[in-house]
Amino acid sequence: MSNIIEPQTGTAFYLKKGQKLKIIDVEGQQVSDMVLFNAEDMRERISSGKTLDFEECIQITTTNFLWSNRSNKLAAIEEDTNGRNDFLLAPCCKQTFEIMYDHKGYHPSCKENLETALAPFGIEPDDIPTAFNVFMNVQYDSDGNLSVLPPTSKAGDYLTIRAEMDLLVGLTACSAEDSNGGTFKPIAYKIM
Ligand SMILES: [Zn+2]
Repeated sequence: MSNIIEPQTGTAFYLKKGQKLKIIDVEGQQVSDMVLFNAEDMRERISSGKTLDFEECIQITTTNFLWSNRSNKLAAIEEDTNGRNDFLLAPCCKQTFEIMYDHKGYHPSCKENLETALAPFGIEPDDIPTAFNVFMNVQYDSDGNLSVLPPTSKAGDYLTIRAEMDLLVGLTACSAEDSNGGTFKPIAYKIM
């Protein structure tokens, strides 16, 4: 049975070493931000820099590992039916909408949703790293210019990781208009 993350919300849970986490785009074109922490010592967490370095790639997908700030493997990506994820951009936050959307007033965000979901586990706001953005479609040209395009994921696409150590996972259904083709959908996940 799958668990559902409602649109523009997030959750957190433990994933034991050897367990698998399947993240499913239920309706299509919906990003899910994922952060990972070593459950035994939460100062160790997922690192974009270490992952891109050790995997020698900025397009992280099946057969790649997700590495920590202490250069340990946190998880292996076992399946990825869409094949397009982002590991460059930090979780959307209040300021994202002020700076990039000219939005005034409250706007839900992955950063706030991760903070809320991870606080009971002792994670402070400043401890939340750049997330692995499942299904996020960030393109770059040869000059290094970035553009955020609608996800290429279709209903039922999924990505599965296998934990290489006991993990705390934070997971969202992303709240940023441009990252999700303009609409907000749920994300499903299953621990196996
Ligand atoms: Zn987001």
